[in-house]
Amino acid sequence: MIQSREVFPLYGKEDFVCPSCSVYSQHDWYEILENQEGDLEISPFLRSLRDNTLARAFSMNERSVSFFKEEVNGYFTDNVTALSLCIHCGKPAFWINGNLVFPHNPSVSLPNQDMPEEVMKLYNEAREISVLSPRASAALLRLALEKLLF
Ligand SMILES: [Zn+2]
Repeated sequence: MIQSREVFPLYGKEDFVCPSCSVYSQHDWYEILENQEGDLEISPFLRSLRDNTLARAFSMNERSVSFFKEEVNGYFTDNVTALSLCIHCGKPAFWINGNLVFPHNPSVSLPNQDMPEEVMKLYNEAREISVLSPRASAALLRLALEKLLF
């Protein structure tokens, strides 16, 4: 059985519960980097402390590289942004400085398909803002419940 902490999205992780489709699935990673000419380039991987490429380039050991570059979970985060792409639904999630910034709702369940459309709209709005404003989210859920019950 999968432990709950292992299913949450984490920068650089290959398998986690997708914040878009809520399915435990595999994710491909990409970095958007600014090159020396100031143009944006996309790389189909995350630069890792583990592959030691940067350490070799600068003749540094891994410990000094970690002071030289920001990293999360062993991956460098000094990019413009990074994105993970869900193999199941094909939707991207966006990461800045190693933190998931979009979608905001990784831990909230998708609405039940039997939910009335008007209630589902309120539920999804509450879901989207649950991390940014839990109280506003709770107010929307209360309204959704009122519409469901009366
Ligand atoms: Zn997905």
